Amino acid sequence: MEKKKISILGAGGAGACAALELSQRGYSVDLYEEGPIPIRKASYVNEGKIHVGFIYAMDRDLHTAKQMILGALHFISNLKRWIDIKPEDVISTPFNYCVHRGSLMSPTELASHYHECIKIFNTYKAEYKKSYLDLFDSIEANLLTKKEADKIVNSEFIEAVFSTSEYAVETRAIANQLTEALYANPSINLILNTRVMSVERSGSGLIIKGNSNGVQIEEKYPIVINATWNGLLEIDKSMGVELPKAWSYRYKYGNKILIPIAPDNLPSCTMVQGPFGDTVNFKDKGAFISWYPIGRAGWSEECRPPEWDSMFSDTERHNIFNSSFKELTKRVPALGNIAFNPNNVSPVGGVIYALGNTDVDKHDSKLHTRSEVGIRSYGNYHSLHTGKYTLIPYWAVKIADRIEGLS
Ligand SMILES: Cc1cc2nc3c(=O)[nH]c(=O)nc-3n(C[C@H](O)[C@H](O)[C@H](O)COP(=O)(O)OP(=O)(O)OC[C@H]3O[C@@H](n4cnc5c(N)ncnc54)[C@H](O)[C@@H]3O)c2cc1C
Repeated sequence: MEKKKISILGAGGAGACAALELSQRGYSVDLYEEGPIPIRKASYVNEGKIHVGFIYAMDRDLHTAKQMILGALHFISNLKRWIDIKPEDVISTPFNYCVHRGSLMSPTELASHYHECIKIFNTYKAEYKKSYLDLFDSIEANLLTKKEADKIVNSEFIEAVFSTSEYAVETRAIANQLTEALYANPSINLILNTRVMSVERSGSGLIIKGNSNGVQIEEKYPIVINATWNGLLEIDKSMGVELPKAWSYRYKYGNKILIPIAPDNLPSCTMVQGPFGDTVNFKDKGAFISWYPIGRAGWSEECRPPEWDSMFSDTERHNIFNSSFKELTKRVPALGNIAFNPNNVSPVGGVIYALGNTDVDKHDSKLHTRSEVGIRSYGNYHSLHTGKYTLIPYWAVKIADRIEGLS
């Protein structure tokens, strides 16, 4: 029997997972990617925090917390549909939530938000019969004593610390496994180095126009999924899809120090609530560090953001790493004890697309909410605003259900 044909635009995390899921459901997938290798953009460089809603405390209606918990509960179990992944091999040490002086919310307000997240987690866990990262049946956030907090952070900058059971996963390891699965799958035709410029209706089908190594290409498909993240709006626009009222693209550094680090030698810390930063200890897979005021190196409200990846020299990238490292070491002193050399540092950045165009230091910034994300379908054209890495495996199964008319 001839396989049903589908085209997916963007071989990032979302496009790759959707391709793997649809191939399992009998589709023959053409997967277009403008870069030379799949999954080397946002889904490779990001921090990998599998959110349980704690960070989205400014969304008082809890819509974002609910969305994240849904994604978090499905994250590993859905990934297991496509790759043989052992969560214990890729998770970080658990996060401490460190309330920075000048935080947009007080420790008391945050404690109450974390409590609400825990309640939502318990409800969804019972409903979906899934655990967090396929490892944990409960989540927690406990306020530490001053003495305990002082062992982790510098109280000159941090006023309170909650120890939590939220984790990140090492995204590069997962990207490599997904990439291998793509290459090994005979039903997925990877079309690399090909930038899709537009999608247009033609009868009941959709015509993709693009540029492959300087050559114009044109191909017709019965179904198209747009999962291009930084390219999403430009292609949606070409289809005549109404664009959001306000959006922004930020270019944020996801620096890695690629040396093994003992679990006790660096605490994983998220500094809240506002424009602060993170340290993440991935044990044998190294560390992630980011300091927002320095690492947020680009901002755009254009339809497609600039090609930031090619706009920073090696020296500029290392300068951003070094300045971020310095700021973070003031707050998390253990960072200063990690011995590494510049060759161990991978100072790469990635694009964050979100609705809203005021930055996270403002109380009313829409960037504090990420619930208006997901799949928008226009007949046989489907546009996926992934929202967060946490949500990728959840959306991949949902979009396949949508295409099969199951949701
Ligand atoms: C520094 C940083 C930290 C982050 N931390 C977290 C976190 O801790 N937790 C979390 O949940 N989320 C986090 N995020 C957000 C997360 O990375 C993204 O939400 C997610 O990876 C987006 O996945 P995607 O597949 O949609 O996009 P991508 O992985 O970027 O994939 C899109 C693909 O489409 C390709 N493409 C674009 N335009 C075209 C075109 N016209 N034609 C062909 N191909 C095209 C791109 O080259 C790319 O490969 C972070 C992001 C950054 C940058």
